[in-house]
Amino acid sequence: MLLKQRIKLFQTFLAHPRHLGTSSPASQSFKKWYQNLWTTERTNLPPYNHFTQIGDPILRQQAAMVPKEHIDSPEIEAIVEQMVKVLRKFNCVGIAAPQIGVSLRIIAMEFKGQIRKELPEAVYQARQMSELPLTVFINPVLTVTNYSKLKHPEGCMSVRGYSAEVERFEEVKLSGLNQLGTPSEVTLSGWNARIAQHEMDHLEGKLYTDHMDRSTFACTCWEAVNTKSGRVEIPFYK
Ligand SMILES: [Zn+2]
Repeated sequence: MLLKQRIKLFQTFLAHPRHLGTSSPASQSFKKWYQNLWTTERTNLPPYNHFTQIGDPILRQQAAMVPKEHIDSPEIEAIVEQMVKVLRKFNCVGIAAPQIGVSLRIIAMEFKGQIRKELPEAVYQARQMSELPLTVFINPVLTVTNYSKLKHPEGCMSVRGYSAEVERFEEVKLSGLNQLGTPSEVTLSGWNARIAQHEMDHLEGKLYTDHMDRSTFACTCWEAVNTKSGRVEIPFYK
């Protein structure tokens, strides 16, 4: 099944959950049934093609575990594919399902080799960055394996246009299921450990702004705002 078809299937489920449930017009009053259809109708349904932004209640919910029996489902496959698509479209290094409007415990991370060319080598080294192939976890569990803390500037696509220094543990172990539903485990250090901790926070309804060094919170384009007399826009699409 194509990604588009799978997403459509998931969206139909979200828009009209009762069509797939046990309730039927016969078990309710016609008015209630009709109103339910009307109130659940929405125009732009998740999984989104954009990042949800701070303020959206979905970013504050504790995400639900993906039920064992649904791990192999086309709906979960579609959500994972959409997450990877959005991650790459916005050229970022990590994404959690609530960021595309789905409150489930799924994260995806990828640190491409080309990023090294885009950053000063000193920054790459200081932040202990290293390549990370696409890594997807369903129902991940994080264990800290090195409690030393590293403090570096961090951003989030759900707090678009800002960054702040955040302390993170130096090394962590992630375990869970990969996108094929196979048990998987990975130990990450430096920047990749930071990405993992950041994405795991999203599953708990936490954002980096909750534990950042508040005095370092900055608009990433503050200099451009001055040089362009304020004519700078932060896009929420791409
Ligand atoms: Zn984030």
